[in-house]
Amino acid sequence: MDVVFVASEAVPFAKTGGLADVAGALPRALEHQGHRVAVFLPGYRRAKGAGLELVDTGLTVRVPVGARLVMGSILQSRLPGSEVPVYLIDQPGYFDRDGLYGNGIVDYDDNSARFLFFDRAVLEAIPILRLCPQVIHCNDWQTGLIPVYCRTLYRHVPELAAAGTLLTIHNLAYLGLFSHWDMTLTGLDWHLFNWRQLEFHGKLCFMKAGLVFADLLSTVSPTYAREIQTAPLGSGLEGLLRHRRADLFGIVNGIDPQAWSPAHESMLARRYDAETVVDGKARCKAWLQHTAGLAERAEVPLFAQIGRLDPQKGWDLLAAVADRLMGRDVQLIVLGVGHPKYHDLLSELARRYPGRFWARLGFDDELAHQIEAGADLFLMPSLFEPCGLNQLYSLAHGTVPIVRATGGLADTVVDANTRTLADGTATGFCFTEPTPEALWQTIERALDLWPDRDAWLKLMRTGMNADWSWDRSALDYVRLYEEISLRHPSRTAPPQAGEATSRPLTRLGTS
Ligand code: ADP
Repeated sequence: MDVVFVASEAVPFAKTGGLADVAGALPRALEHQGHRVAVFLPGYRRAKGAGLELVDTGLTVRVPVGARLVMGSILQSRLPGSEVPVYLIDQPGYFDRDGLYGNGIVDYDDNSARFLFFDRAVLEAIPILRLCPQVIHCNDWQTGLIPVYCRTLYRHVPELAAAGTLLTIHNLAYLGLFSHWDMTLTGLDWHLFNWRQLEFHGKLCFMKAGLVFADLLSTVSPTYAREIQTAPLGSGLEGLLRHRRADLFGIVNGIDPQAWSPAHESMLARRYDAETVVDGKARCKAWLQHTAGLAERAEVPLFAQIGRLDPQKGWDLLAAVADRLMGRDVQLIVLGVGHPKYHDLLSELARRYPGRFWARLGFDDELAHQIEAGADLFLMPSLFEPCGLNQLYSLAHGTVPIVRATGGLADTVVDANTRTLADGTATGFCFTEPTPEALWQTIERALDLWPDRDAWLKLMRTGMNADWSWDRSALDYVRLYEEISLRHPSRTAPPQAGEATSRPLTRLGTS
């Protein structure tokens, strides 16, 4: 297959969350399976300064943004460890900024112009680069207008004629909502601004645009694919998603075994695998305790959490049980950045529990690996979690996850109960109700099992031996690409309001 993969972030160019891990790894896995993939990213300051090989192709695009004609240059790089070309759309006015989407406090007020420019620039660049994709794989709201443009302003471009579109939802909490007046920036006809197409409660909604116009839709776990068809996780788009449920699939993200395996990570105090996990983790734990200024005690359970300090990640539940947890003989390490109220909470915990609690408020990729390797348990009580990567990284490191059974967490962690402990399938601890009591009872279950070192080791090894590599997920994506290229409608006319893509689809068994 010939695939163009469009994302607003990708490792190692620019990252704020899991989307970047996916965009950095899936194209490589696809290439590995013999497909031709090209990746497009915005030419952020961070991406250009990432220290990667970068050449100016000398090619440019000109994109109408309202009444302006905005120029972009095409820079070329490569996904490390592959031949996958990465094209950065360089437009300093839009992308030469510190942040990707905002300044850390508020979103940039020209995000609609920035990303509609990016979306059109990709479609302008495809013929110039002589690409002929069968599928354009779009990701999240930032790329949501691409399926619309493909069916409207760009439907007669020969290089795009064979291209169907897939939109993958990485997080439906972010819709890309803008003033209706921004329709004038898009160059799209106002007749598309209606409740069945681009309009959402009076606003222009990039995510909805993609959900209506893409040939197929996917999200990053089967459970989340079901959850977003109902309120509240559907974010108001649950009706549309139910309407398109035959076209909606759930494919769990993979992990990059080179990047996230304790056998390969160069930053660890000791590398280890499932055979050597006892010694290896003990060494990594001692290093972590030392680095964090915690007592170097092997026998104390070391809990960790890494991620955005956002209500989504269950921080209010964690805040409610923090004192109870610290009342036990445990240690806790947190790496994260986000909402000021959680910064305050973590600073307060550090003050109250010196030598047992450590928080690093910032973004530190190397430390994230070291925490995954050194910790014993990983707390992930998310209110919702489209897929979640940290529980997968935890499993790979023999760090037992405690998760709320939602989205991808429900699909990837097997709760340790009498049956699963006996049959050897248990990998972590799960709870359902989003309450502090449910979280606390689950933490207590984990603490009860902790002294049983044989059972604990089995739990660690089962998690470490599970296959969450990208090869498995990439195969599922290829099946979607094949469906798209078989069935995407001809580009003669935009779909009418409310028109569903009608041909039956072979179910993949993943949604
Ligand atoms: P989300 O995409 O919702 O933020 P995921 O669990 O899917 O959550 O992915 C988060 C990714 O970002 C993981 O790779 C995680 O290690 C990384 N990450 C999040 N916060 C930090 C941080 N403060 N420092 C380093 N890595 C982080």
